[in-house]
Amino acid sequence: MSRVTLISRWTARCTNCGAQNPRLKCSACRISRYCNNKCQREDWQWHKDACKEHKESLEKIEDTNLAACVEFFSRYTDEWQLPFAQWGLFSTNLASRNATFLKQNFFALLLEETKDLTKFTRRSAFNVAVSGMFPNASFEELIPAAKYSADGVHAEFLRDFEKLDKSPQVLRIVLMSSIVCTVFSVNIKEIFPPHTMGWTRSPSASQYFKDIYEKEFKDAVAAGHVRTALNRVMELFTFITTGEVLDLPGGGESEDAAAKERI
Ligand SMILES: [Zn+2]
Ligand SMILES: [Zn+2]
Repeated sequence: MSRVTLISRWTARCTNCGAQNPRLKCSACRISRYCNNKCQREDWQWHKDACKEHKESLEKIEDTNLAACVEFFSRYTDEWQLPFAQWGLFSTNLASRNATFLKQNFFALLLEETKDLTKFTRRSAFNVAVSGMFPNASFEELIPAAKYSADGVHAEFLRDFEKLDKSPQVLRIVLMSSIVCTVFSVNIKEIFPPHTMGWTRSPSASQYFKDIYEKEFKDAVAAGHVRTALNRVMELFTFITTGEVLDLPGGGESEDAAAKERI
């Protein structure tokens, strides 16, 4: 991920469970926050690598509450980066675009914090409010300077966006929430195997993907079901390119159980 930046309102959250106003701080980085020792212990296997790395990228942010929020959003984004990239590529309908489409447009997702705080975890903290492909020139309208809390941050974020590789092979992704904005880019060859890239030639397939997106992907994001979102995409591709029906794990209770086990 290239970087995280911030917007105006925030409350510190536990890096492990997402609860607001956590009492403890990681004594090494002084950024990650935790409700209690249990949350800190549960998070350590994830946090140990990020601890030093995040310290370096976040220590510029003077407000420690805000740094904790940025850390939480980074964690969320790490979990969802690949599914969001997959669905971004879905929605581009590449086969019907001209060759330079990805140079001229980027994918943006507007994420809204879930209102149901009992569902607020590092995987299910946000809902997808809006998403789609936008022309490069609309970036400043999407991320207005007035929303940023710190002087110079907006200009810096624009520069980060400009620095991303503009190439027909690279999907640039902007994630926006009320807490944080982030931009990153993914080479489309890393998202799907090249032989599957012709899938969007069929208008009816495109419509089908769009329906699936509306009905299933947004639900998976809201429920925090990362694996369901990923596997569903692979199922669709496999079916379209080979006619084979996969039966991949993931979804509902089994995924909740798997997520708990990982902790
Ligand atoms: Zn916690
Ligand atoms: Zn730490």
